[in-house]
Formats: sequence, structure tokens, C-alpha cells
Amino acid sequence: MGSPDPLLNPAIIGGGYAGMAAAVSLSARGIPITVFESAQQLGGRARGVFYNETQLDNGQHLLLGCYRKTLRLIEQVGGNIEQDFLRLPLQLDLHGQFSLKAPRLPSPLHLLIALLTAQGLTWSERMKAARFMLALRGMNFRLPNDITVTELLAQHGQDADLTLKLWEPLCIAALNSPIHKASAQVLLNVLRDALNQSRADSDMLLPRIDFTALFPQRAANYVEQHGGKVHISCGVDAVVPKDGEIKLVTAVGIHTFSHVICAAPPTVAAKLLRPIVALAEAVAQIDSLEHQPIYTVYLQYPPTVRLPHPMLGLHQRYSQWLFDKGQIAGQHGLLAAVISAEGIHQDLSQEQLAQKVIAELREEFGIAEKPEWFKVIAEKRATFCCSPKLHRPSQQTPLPRLLIAGDYTAGDYPATLEGAVMSGVKCADMIGATA
Ligand SMILES: Cc1cc2nc3c(=O)[nH]c(=O)nc-3n(C[C@H](O)[C@H](O)[C@H](O)COP(=O)(O)OP(=O)(O)OC[C@H]3O[C@@H](n4cnc5c(N)ncnc54)[C@H](O)[C@@H]3O)c2cc1C
Repeated sequence: MGSPDPLLNPAIIGGGYAGMAAAVSLSARGIPITVFESAQQLGGRARGVFYNETQLDNGQHLLLGCYRKTLRLIEQVGGNIEQDFLRLPLQLDLHGQFSLKAPRLPSPLHLLIALLTAQGLTWSERMKAARFMLALRGMNFRLPNDITVTELLAQHGQDADLTLKLWEPLCIAALNSPIHKASAQVLLNVLRDALNQSRADSDMLLPRIDFTALFPQRAANYVEQHGGKVHISCGVDAVVPKDGEIKLVTAVGIHTFSHVICAAPPTVAAKLLRPIVALAEAVAQIDSLEHQPIYTVYLQYPPTVRLPHPMLGLHQRYSQWLFDKGQIAGQHGLLAAVISAEGIHQDLSQEQLAQKVIAELREEFGIAEKPEWFKVIAEKRATFCCSPKLHRPSQQTPLPRLLIAGDYTAGDYPATLEGAVMSGVKCADMIGATA
């Protein structure tokens, strides 16, 4: 690689996973980069939250072994995957109702055995699930036309019980969208990458440190060591392309850059880009996205309280997934209940929702103790709703020096860390190619 063009001085709006992935990729090429982040800390929708002297996250995040770009970048900025995560082989456990665990065998044998030995399904349901997976492999995980997950399951004879115990929890966890709205093709993209190649691709990685520390903060240190700057509590108020350059209006003045990557969340990106006439189509695409919530209920119980597994689901309850932070991160007695996608839980107050979760923990596991405190974090616009045939904006815009990154931009993946990181790396590659 030759020396980069000295006139290149790109800026990034937003220090979430997409923005910081772009920042690291450009810094690694020797291109000095400036990041503007409006919040007091980096991470965006995957950030650490400090509450009651306890380190939490804004929500429980799970990575899959196939999230190669994210895992590689975490290592590039100094992380150690085996120390930073608890690695579990693929397993789905809906307490007392259903359980599936992949044996340590090569893919796809591990999945077929997991399906054929799943507890809580009839033999006929297991066969239907295994046949469905074989059919998807036979189709190379590609559909001729995108349809909803509900439609795909019906086409392949997956009955109601199988859907409720296996496919619906899997789809909501992967796409954060209800099955009647979710894109079957995007679900298949995730299944293709997680289940079809190496067995380790389907491993589930549960973070032991918070999501700001895991990557964005390390990425900021990396950027600064490579001559770049990361400004926090410094939001961008306007983006003004002029004379082949781009001006950013921020709280601390107006700065001029050769390129800008807008890696703000979709609603902010639409607001910043709306005045730029050439970007009308991208803005219309962003405006058309529907959003889905994720609620997380943290409960601090006495340290002796623990769940049967570090992560497990509940069948037909408010709490979809439960995480035992004691077993994952040594935070004994701290449990987190996750409720993804839209639903009746949104009609409850935070106090009512926490009481429902407490009652479920008592009924399912006999946890009679009262939590010392609880904290509900409601991310109302956690992700875009991943429906079929969405027109997601491209990273490239009609203005060659203005790019868009973020989990909602064009790509194979639903709104995930990997999707965000891939979009950031793609923008960096495009700028890097001009250097
Ligand atoms: C509760 C929850 C649970 C989730 N669980 C998972 C999971 O298990 N696995 C998974 O892969 N994904 C999960 N996701 C999705 C994942 O967190 C997102 O896809 C990803 O974090 C999006 O990153 P991003 O960089 O595209 O956007 P963001 O994280 O939204 O980053 C945008 C950044 O821009 C900043 N910003 C906003 N306005 C401005 C401005 N004017 N100027 C400068 N900066 C600005 C924001 O503060 C933010 O830091 C979850 C999301 C949530 C909310």
C-alpha cells in the first residue's frame, strides 16, 4: 500500500459500531479520521449503561460465530474474543418446553442431529424441521421471491407448535421482527452464514464486558493512536456539500472535510441529509423504514440466585430470553429479561412489566426472593423492521464524497452489529479506493 493522499481528511458522523468500524478501517490505511459523536459515550444502540453502581448494557447483545468482520475488528483494536465472550455451542432452550443443542460435530451434521434429537417436539415435527433445513440447503438458502417468514413456514409444512417453539423465537431473536412481517430471505441469509459452513459459525458469543468497552472505546483509542480524533458530546447539526468538499456544522464550529460518512441512526440520518436535494431518494428510503422495539428488564437479586443456564428462553411468556449475568460476566444475581419486537408488553408501564417478569421468574424457577432493584430499558427504535423486499439505502450516494453507513443500509443482514460493521467497512473501502 502506498502513502494515502495527504488531502484526504474524512469525517464520520456517529460513533456506533458502523461509524467506529469505518474509523478503524480508515485509520488502519493511514488515513487520519475525525469522528463526531453526539452522546457522552460511544456505542450508540450497543452501549454500556452504568446504573446503581452496576455496569449494564442498553440491551443484551448476542453475537454469532459467523460475525467475522465484527470479531476481526474487535481483535484488531486489542480485544481477545475468548476472554471478552462466553462462547456457547448453538443451543435453544425454552425452559421446560423445548430444548435443542448442537453436538460438536461438523456442519451441517451438528444441526441435523440437533433437530432430530430436540426435546419437546414430536418425532414428526423433528422430521419436518430437518426436512425444511435440507430443503433450504438444496435451495442454497435463496428464494426466487422474498416472502414473509410465516409464508415460508406454511409452504414447508411447519406446523403451529414447531413454529412457536423453534422458528418464531429464532426469527425474533435474529431479525427483531414478528414472523408475519419478517423477511424470509433475510432470515435465510443469517441461517446460511450461521448454520451452513463451519460448526463454530453457529456458536453463540455472550459478552463479558460492556458494549462500549468491547469495541467502540478500544476503536477510539486505536483511531487516536493512528493520528485521528474522536469528539464525544459533539453532535453534527448540518451537512453542507460545497465545491467538492463537505462542511459539517457542529456545536464547536464548522469543519471542512474531503469525505463524510453519515453513520448516525436512520431518523437522524434522514434529518441531516434531507436538505441535500441529490439525496432525496435515499432519504425517502430511510423515511419508509418501520421500526421495532427491544425492552430489557434488569433485576438485581441476591448473589446466590442463578438460572439453570447462562441464557434460556421462556415459552409464551413476556420474558422471551433470560440472561444470567452471574454465569456470563461474574455479576452474580443480576438477571436480564429481553423482550424483542412489538407486542402487548408495550401497553404496560415499566413497573408493571418488571412485576410480570418477577412473577415469571418465581413461577418458572421458584425464585422467591425479591430483587433489590430493577431497571427497564426500552429502546423504542431498536432496529428497523426487517420486512420482505425492503429498499434499504445504498452506502454510496449520488455525491461520491458523501457515504451512508449503518445497520439499516443495503446489505444481506438484518439490523445487527455485523450488518452495521459491514456497512462501515464498505464505506471505508470506497474512500480507501480513492486514496
Ligand atoms: C436493545 C438492543 C438489543 C440488540 N441486540 C442485538 C444482538 O443481540 N445482536 C446484534 O447483532 N444486534 C443487536 N442489536 C442491534 C445493534 O445494536 C445495532 O444493529 C447496531 O448497534 C447499530 O449500529 P449503528 O452504528 O448502525 O447505529 P447506532 O448504534 O445507532 O449508532 C449511531 C451513532 O450516531 C450517534 N449520533 C446520533 N445523532 C448524531 C449526530 N447528530 N451527530 C453525531 N452523532 C450522532 C448516536 O449517538 C450513535 O452513537 C440490538 C439493538 C438493541 C437496541
